[in-house]
Amino acid sequence: MLAEKAEVVQVAEGSVEDLKEKLKGAYGILLGTWIKFTAELMDISPDLKVISRTGVGVDNVDIDAATSRGIMVLNTPTANAISVAEHAVSLILALSKQLIFLDSSIRQDNFKARRLNLPIDVDGKTLGLIGCGGIGRLVAQKCRAAFSMRVVGYDPYLKVAPEGIELVTDLNEIYAQSDFISIHLPLTPETRNMIGAETLSRMKTSAILINTSRGGIVDEAALADALNAGRLAGAGLDVFEQEPVAMNSPLMSAKNLIMTPHSAALTKECVLRVAQAAATGLIDAVEGREPQAVFNKKALAAR
Ligand code: NAD
Repeated sequence: MLAEKAEVVQVAEGSVEDLKEKLKGAYGILLGTWIKFTAELMDISPDLKVISRTGVGVDNVDIDAATSRGIMVLNTPTANAISVAEHAVSLILALSKQLIFLDSSIRQDNFKARRLNLPIDVDGKTLGLIGCGGIGRLVAQKCRAAFSMRVVGYDPYLKVAPEGIELVTDLNEIYAQSDFISIHLPLTPETRNMIGAETLSRMKTSAILINTSRGGIVDEAALADALNAGRLAGAGLDVFEQEPVAMNSPLMSAKNLIMTPHSAALTKECVLRVAQAAATGLIDAVEGREPQAVFNKKALAAR
C-alpha cells in the first residue's frame, strides 16, 4: 500500500543507528513498539510530519515533543481490540483449567495430576475490569455471552456504564468482589504501579489477575511474592515492565503464572488489520486528508 504512494525504506527491529540514518529527510514513519520515539529522533528529519503507531498505546512516542513540532501522531485504536480481548479470555481459561500444569504433568509421567482437582469453573463467576474502554468491553461481552459471568468495572472517566458492565466508583469493590481481574488501562503516571503489594492483598486469595495492557501497571516483584505465598491464585501477563523480561526476573519462578511475550495482538489476522490501518493513516496524511485516528489532534489544534 505504502510503496504505491511513497518511497519506503525499512529498518530492522533493534537497529537504532540504521534508523537514525534512514530517518534523514523522512516525511512519515510507521512505528512499532521496539523503540521510544524521542525528540532527538524527531529532530533528525525536519520534514517529519506524521508518526503512525501500529497499535493503541502511544506511550513509546514523546507526544509533547511531537505536538510542539507540529507532528501528527496516529494510532490504530480499534484494529487489535478483538485479538487482545480473546487473549485475555484465553489466559483466564488456561489458568482456570490449569492447562499448562496438566500438560507438563503428563509429560512428566504424572497422569494422577487429574486427581488434584486443581481446575476451576468460570461459569457464573465475577469478572472485574479495571478500564472499560474498547478491549475491556469486548472481554466483558465474551465472558458474559460464553460463561454467564457477572461483570463489574472501574473506569472513572466513563459517564455512562457500558452495556453489561456494573460500574463501581471505588476500586476496592473490584478487589473485594472479583474472581478474575482483568486490566485494560493505558500506562499513565496515575496507573503506573497501580497494582502493588497493598492492592494485591485486597484481592481474594482465590483470584486470578490478568494484564494484557501495559507493563509498569503491575509491580512484578510484588505479584511474584503474592503468587508464591498463595495470596493470589494465579496470574496471566502479556506485558512487562521491561521487555524482553530479564531471565533473573522474580516472575520466572512465580507459581501459577502464565506469561506470553506481548503477543496478544500478534495473531495472523490482527497484524494485517493493524498494519493496514496504520498504513492507511500515513497515506491519508501524505495525500492531504485527515487521518481517522490522530492521537494528538486536540493538542495540535490548540498549538
Ligand atoms: P481504550 O482507550 O479504549 O480504554 C482504556 C480505558 O481506560 C478508557 O475507558 C479510560 O477511561 C480508562 N482509564 C484511563 N485511566 C484510568 C484509570 N486511572 N482508572 C480506570 N480507568 C482508566 O484502550 P483499549 O483499546 O481498551 O486498550 C487498553 C490497553 O491495552 C492500552 O494500554 C493498550 O496500550 C493496551 N493494548 C495492549 C495490546 C497487547 O498487545 N497486549 C494490544 C492493544 C492494546
